[in-house]
Amino acid sequence: MDQAIKDMLGVYGVTADTDRFLQSEQRMFVNGEFVAAGGNETIDVIEPATATHLTSVPSGTTEDVDGAVAAARFALRDGDWAKMKPAARERLLLKLADAIEQHAQTLGEIETIDNGKAIGPCIEMDILGGADLLRYMAGFATKLDGATRQVSIPGEHMAWTFREPVGVVGAIVPWNWPFNMAMWKMAAALAVGCTMVIKPAQQTSLSMLYFARLCQEVGLPPGVINIVTGRGSTIGDYLANHPDIDKVSFTGSTPVGRAVGEAAGRALSPVTLELGGKSPMVALDDADPKAIAAATRWSVYFNAGQVCSAGSRLYAHSSVYDDVIDELSQMTSAMKIAPGLDPDCDMGPVISDSARRSILSYIEQGKSEGAELIYGGNALDRDGFFIEPTLFAADDNNLSIVQEEIFGPVLVVLKFDSDEEAMRLANDNIYGLAGSIWTKDISRALRYSAQLEAGTVWINNHDIVDSNMPCGGFKQSGFGKDMGPEQLQHFTRTKAVWLTL
Ligand code: NAD
Repeated sequence: MDQAIKDMLGVYGVTADTDRFLQSEQRMFVNGEFVAAGGNETIDVIEPATATHLTSVPSGTTEDVDGAVAAARFALRDGDWAKMKPAARERLLLKLADAIEQHAQTLGEIETIDNGKAIGPCIEMDILGGADLLRYMAGFATKLDGATRQVSIPGEHMAWTFREPVGVVGAIVPWNWPFNMAMWKMAAALAVGCTMVIKPAQQTSLSMLYFARLCQEVGLPPGVINIVTGRGSTIGDYLANHPDIDKVSFTGSTPVGRAVGEAAGRALSPVTLELGGKSPMVALDDADPKAIAAATRWSVYFNAGQVCSAGSRLYAHSSVYDDVIDELSQMTSAMKIAPGLDPDCDMGPVISDSARRSILSYIEQGKSEGAELIYGGNALDRDGFFIEPTLFAADDNNLSIVQEEIFGPVLVVLKFDSDEEAMRLANDNIYGLAGSIWTKDISRALRYSAQLEAGTVWINNHDIVDSNMPCGGFKQSGFGKDMGPEQLQHFTRTKAVWLTL
């Protein structure tokens, strides 16, 4: 750990547990054991607020993936997990959720240091939200059912269906919500009895490796959860193409999602793809400028804009446009940009130097394409991958900063004059993850919520999630749902049984 990180930890303070964990050698978790990568190679982990070396994680090999898949297969078919009754599985998952809650401070600190995000929302949403989802899904362990079907005259045949776990799940997750996105897959998959191989993003594996300790602590049988760290281009690709994986659940970018989907197509195995977005916020003529500015500021700058559903393009009716821009300028300029461990941090650094360079090049492109830069636009003159929250106004829906996912703290505001124009502009995008409509008129809100081409539509809010509501996109934002009862379908398969009497 570089001295700059030690100094930062000294300023903000972390639990002794966090400190011990960060100083310890990091190992993958396979078949209930902590192991080094087969090739003994490691990947450097760079802490985003100082841009210095934090630790190293094992760079898993294809043989490591094979070992993890074999362990998961054994646990599914022959281990204690396979014999565990649903009620016992539910109790175990509730115990795991309690352990997450008890270690929420440590998990939150590890996540914040690894990713750069603000500590308060991280503990509240990423970690405790993950524990809540696990509890919610645990309840379904005892509620899976099938149906009896009448297929003949009585006395000839009986027939019924039941749902069984789909099998060994390969879960590939991104770096923007490392713990939470893994939990979005794990909670449902475990509740129905699947076993898993999880591949965290190579930038942010630490919260999953700490979580593995909790799995051991509560007595999750070996092989149920396996965590293999390493690069997407090698082990991620290998896992997505693995012949002994029954289902892949992927969250990440659309280009990688397309490759994962192609692999699933070749293998004829089911896949869920939670991909990128460029979510519109539409403020109609009666919207409250203060409320929409506050929601937009939160949505697009929270997590430094590295949010799949970030409201990164805001369409404001000409009658509220100036007020919305004024409010946004004031709110944006008052934000505190600081390391995520600072309790007052509004926005931390972005994940890496390459992410920052990509965001800055989008900002340059926006300027050269004719958008008006209203606030921000620069990297901060300090160590770490900090960048100013950036606000653009534009009048062309075809600009790259309006059409493409920047995945950084960049907002573009556009003006419209009629509801029809707003809906046309909002839907004119390859993505369809989420969107929001702002109005006091309930009829218009309901009409446009149906017209918006997005997997989630919020009315007078943006970015709310709940365990009981499915999340997942339309168009090039992918298919399938995480969370809500809908997700259970993705991790189970229906078997039809016939009995001749
Ligand atoms: P990414 O696609 O680069 O990586 C995601 C994961 O895939 C990582 O674990 C990575 O190592 C792995 N990977 C990379 N190449 C691979 C390959 N060839 N085969 C298999 N796996 C591979 O995405 P990212 O940069 O980590 O995350 C940001 C993206 O995730 C954004 O586009 C964001 O919108 C999206 N995202 C979507 C949701 C959602 O719910 N729809 C949620 C969070 C993030």
